[in-house]
Formats: sequence, C-alpha cells, structure tokens
Amino acid sequence: MKAHDGMYIDGAWRPAAGRDVIEVVNPADEQVIGQVPAGDATDVDTAVRAARAALAGWAATPPAERAARIAALRDVLVARRDEIAETVTAELGSPLKFSEAVHAGVPIAVAGTYATLAASYAFEEKVGNSTVFHEPIGVVGAITPWNYPLHQIVAKVAPALAAGCTIVLKPAEDTPLTAQLFAEAVHEAGVPAGVFNLVTGLGPVAGQALAEHPGVDLVSFTGSTAVGRRIAATAGAAVKKVALELGGKSANVILPGADLAKAVNVGVANVMSNSGQTCSAWTRMLVHSERYEEAVELAAAAAAKYGDRIGPVVNAAQRERVRGYIEKGVAEGARLVTGGPEAPCDRDRGYFVSPTVFADVTPGMTIAQEEIFGPVLSILRYEDEDDALEIANGTVYGLAGAVWAGDEAEAVAFARRMETGQVDINGARFNPAAPFGGYKQSGVGRELGVHGLAEYLQTKSLQF
Ligand code: NAP
Ligand code: MG
Repeated sequence: MKAHDGMYIDGAWRPAAGRDVIEVVNPADEQVIGQVPAGDATDVDTAVRAARAALAGWAATPPAERAARIAALRDVLVARRDEIAETVTAELGSPLKFSEAVHAGVPIAVAGTYATLAASYAFEEKVGNSTVFHEPIGVVGAITPWNYPLHQIVAKVAPALAAGCTIVLKPAEDTPLTAQLFAEAVHEAGVPAGVFNLVTGLGPVAGQALAEHPGVDLVSFTGSTAVGRRIAATAGAAVKKVALELGGKSANVILPGADLAKAVNVGVANVMSNSGQTCSAWTRMLVHSERYEEAVELAAAAAAKYGDRIGPVVNAAQRERVRGYIEKGVAEGARLVTGGPEAPCDRDRGYFVSPTVFADVTPGMTIAQEEIFGPVLSILRYEDEDDALEIANGTVYGLAGAVWAGDEAEAVAFARRMETGQVDINGARFNPAAPFGGYKQSGVGRELGVHGLAEYLQTKSLQF
C-alpha cells in the first residue's frame, strides 16, 4: 500500500496541522519503507469533534444497519487480506505466513463475530416494570500497540461500531501503515463520515492529547502497564471510563500426567511466535521436578528449530530491552540452555534475537516476574500442585495461561484456582468470541465477543 500523507478525519484524508512525520522502518532489514504525519493536539481535537458530530446519527442507526456496515468491513478485510499481511510483515517484520494466518486472519474472524452480534444483541430488555436500554457510551478514544497491529484495532473498533459509538484511533508509531490500510477499509465499507477517525502520531503527544480530551467518553487502551496506569489516572480525574489491556507473564502449567512432548512443543511455539511479542504468551513453563530435565531438553530442541524462522522484534529499543533481560537472567543465576542475547548467526541486519530458553529459573528472578516481550522462555520447577499454583499466581499479572493434564477434570480444577482471565486446557484453540482480558495488573475490562461489546454500552432504565 501507499502511505497517506494525512489523517483520516470525517470521511476524508486531510493534511495534518503540523509538519512532523514518523518514519516507518522494516525491522527485518532496517530500511525506511514510508512515512506518515505525526499528529498533534490540534489533529486530535479535529478528530474528536468529527466523532462527536457523528455520534447522534450513528447511535440512532438501527443495529441491523450497523451490522451490515461491520459485515461489509469484514468483507473488505477478506478482499485485501494479502495486502494486509504484506503491510504487517513490512512494518512489524513477522514472517509472511504468520501475518497471513494470524495478523490478517484473526481480525477477519473478530469482525465477523461483531457483524453477527450487532444484529442479534438485545439492546433493549425488560426488568420488572422497567425497560432497560443499552445505549452507546459515546466517543471512544482508542490507543493501540504494534504487536498485533490490526487485531488490536479491530478488537476495539468493531465492538464500538456495533454499540453505536464513534471512534478516534491513535495507533502505535511503529505500525501506522496497517492503521491507514484499516481506515481505507472502513471507508470502502461505507461507514458514515466521522464515525471512525484516524490520527497517527506519537504516544506522549497525540496519544496523551486523546486520553485527556474532554470530548472523549471512554479511553480504550492496549499496551504497557506503565502507560496504562497514567491513562487510568487521567481518566479517573475526569470521571471517564477506561478499558485497559496491559501486560502479562502467563504460566504454562504441565501437570505430571500430561503428554509432556506435546505440552512443551506447543508451549515453545506459543512463546516464540510473533518473536515473543504477545501479551498473553505463556512465558513461564512450570514442570514437576521428576520430569524437569526431560522438559528442558525438549524445549531447547524445539526453540533451536525456530532459529532460522523467527522474525525480528519490532525496533532497536525493544531488541536492547530483550537483550538486557537475557543478560539479567544469566547474572541472576538462571541456566541458559539455548539462544542468548545475540541474533541468530545468519542475520547481520535487522532487530533479531535468538530464541532463548532458560532453565533453573526461580520465581523471584527478574525474568520470572517482568514482561520481556521477546522470544524468551523461562522453565521453573515445582514439587506438588500447591507449589505449582503458588508459582503460577505469583506475579502482578493475570492475563492468560495453560494447563496440561492426563485428565481434563484435573486440568479444569487447577485452572479454576488460577488468578487469570483465560486458560487453555490441553492445547485448545483460540476462540475469537471468548472474553479476553486481565486479572490483577493485566488490565481492566474485557475485549472480544459479547463481553467486549458490553464495554462500549451503558444502561438507561425507564420505569412504567
Ligand atoms: P506503550 O508505550 O504502552 O504503547 C502502547 C500505545 O500507547 C502506543 O500507541 C503508544 O504510542 C501509546 N502511548 C505511549 N505513551 C503514551 C502516553 N503518555 N499517553 C497516551 N498514549 C501513549 O508500549 P510500547 O512502548 O510500544 O512497548 C513497551 C512495552 O509494553 C513492551 O515491551 C511490552 O512489555 C508492553 N506491551 C504490551 C502490549 C500488550 O498487548 N499488552 C502491547 C505492546 C507493548 P507510541 O507507539 O508512539 O509509543
Ligand atoms: Mg512507546
């Protein structure tokens, strides 16, 4: 795709207020592939005004018509699937096959669920002598990260559209081309002018202006806990609703009766895919002491196989951050069994980090507590189920997880004691309609499916 030299506001591409630009870099070869305008508070204000002006009309549009526009959007994403995959690969660096299947495929599935939900959801219900209306919360300020650039946009915009909200999106500075492509798709789908608006720009400038804007009713943010905390504080002061999807440090708990080879191989793939840049990745593998060394060997072999297939991390700063964590793991006494801070040997350009596995990781180590956001797996040892549970729950996060057991009921019993928003039992597949979101410091609120739709609605009760 060709980069737009403007912001998509009120149904058209219009010039930015200032002259600053963001250069977009391909992290696989460090080449500049395009540039987009870096918006400021003036652009944000123009976009919020457009969204506010469009709100009454979109909120009053019958749900069936809103559903038809979301279905049309889904169809455009299907038609432009290859272009989406190529764009994500160019600016995020993920291997093309992964971009096709996941970066393009998952948003299509999610948009489909909201086309169905918008048409079928009970926006009106009877409670005793009351009629309760589920009304849109208003103008949504959406701030998204780069790690699943289209998915994170669609996971906010599709339910907001279904609810009757209007939106201003500030995407990540590293992946603005995917966001521009999405704006083109919204336009092609016939969504009315002003309902969806895009302001590209930097977090502390455009992002902060959006989070602080008094014309925004709900700030929906996905990204780091540090920025999320600031956004929540700002919104709290303005008595404004927030939805936060933050970090994770999820546990992959392999109970003694599990199919060890399968659990380890799927677990390694879960961490290494997208170069470890997945908030819900199972970055801590918990194995019983009796099968520990066997698991470590299997994990090392599985990770080594990724060496020549893994994509880069998103930028130079992330590579330095990830390297720093690997060095810290070594310094704190973990056993490096494969990988390390350097790139795989055949990569002399690009922000690559070797798939890395640490054994003998103890729960208090930095690499067992902090979100690394790179291809780094920590394997921890437990002695019994209570010990495993204490380790699994022993971080400030609670986004996802996995449990493997010979017996499904045993896995479910363990999963019910985990402080986390999602658990995959014995390698179950992703469900785009299941609520996704965090316990503890992993966030506030839920995305996806009917629970994700509810975040964009507020109730009004009429008594008769
Ligand atoms: P981030 O700074 O939290 O970025 C997320 C989004 O917030 C981006 O659009 C960003 O803009 C924007 N932003 C930054 N500062 C802001 C501010 N003061 N006010 C409003 N918006 C602001 O995350 P990052 O720097 O890309 O990554 C840092 C770490 O966050 C990662 O290493 C990882 O641990 C975590 N992370 C988690 C997720 C997740 O899905 N949970 C996703 C990405 C990152 P810019 O793009 O201009 O910074
Ligand atoms: Mg940032």
